[in-house]
Amino acid sequence: MADFDCLPIAPLQPLPIPWLDHARIQAAVLRLDLIDPLISGNKWFKLRDHLIQAKNAQAPGLIGLGGNHSNHLHALAAAGKRFGFATAGLLRGHPQDTPTVRDLQALGMHLHWLGYGGYRARNEPGFWAPWQARYPGWQCIPEGGGGLAGAQGCRLIVEQAQAQLGALGWDDYDGWWLAAGTGTTLAGLVLAEAGRRQVHGALAVPADHGVAQTVAGLVGESGYQLHDACRGGFARIDPELLAFIERTERDSGLPLEALYTGKALLALREHAEAGLFAPGSRLIFVHTGGLQGRRGYL
Ligand SMILES: *Cc1c(COP(=O)(O)O)cnc(C)c1O
Repeated sequence: MADFDCLPIAPLQPLPIPWLDHARIQAAVLRLDLIDPLISGNKWFKLRDHLIQAKNAQAPGLIGLGGNHSNHLHALAAAGKRFGFATAGLLRGHPQDTPTVRDLQALGMHLHWLGYGGYRARNEPGFWAPWQARYPGWQCIPEGGGGLAGAQGCRLIVEQAQAQLGALGWDDYDGWWLAAGTGTTLAGLVLAEAGRRQVHGALAVPADHGVAQTVAGLVGESGYQLHDACRGGFARIDPELLAFIERTERDSGLPLEALYTGKALLALREHAEAGLFAPGSRLIFVHTGGLQGRRGYL
């Protein structure tokens, strides 16, 4: 079985953007989108401890859940193929043909469409029993690779950035800014920082989705702040956001997608312009990946 640490570390790059200069903020971007052409972004870090558990349990395969553009299922299918696990995906809704779904099939994932009602039952007791009967011994991974195992794997994100500060000419930094969906990745950063630096989560989902409760359940109440960034709802895309993504890519070469990373960087601009950070602050923006998902709309 291949070694789970064989993926390259995420490059930490300067982020030269005029609105950051105006706010006198120095920013760097940690490019989780560049670790691998297929196993992209934060989903790899969230999967890592689940894969180690599966290997230790000698599980023949992995079962995950997600929608038809899911970055999580995409990374799961790619990681399964790379590291020698079979994979099954339980999908929300009815059979659809999207670029992501075609990739899942090409990567050999067994797909099961649960409908909407069936998918809503995913947190009910007994949900997994029929799947465990169908795929004996396979590792069941919570939605999005969440939970403490997911957060623990994300501690590595902090290590990877810190190892590259010197090359950037930084002796230290003040905080993190990243997109939050379930908040698992953010929780991993908070665990690794242990209160040394503030972690700012830009919420890609509405406040009533329970992210604050999830994060508090994993890491308690301190060491982080959550900011609304969803612009009216998860996966809602507006012209200002798309224009911002295009301008950012043109000016700084940084590719973003519209569900997480684009909204997170736009929310950073709004908070930087509103004076959230003292002049001279140094921030690390985490590019959490997800670019495979933008084939549907960009
Ligand atoms: C899933 C995802 C997130 C959210 O990660 P959480 O750990 O659920 O908060 C952020 N960005 C991208 C690109 C994602 O695919």
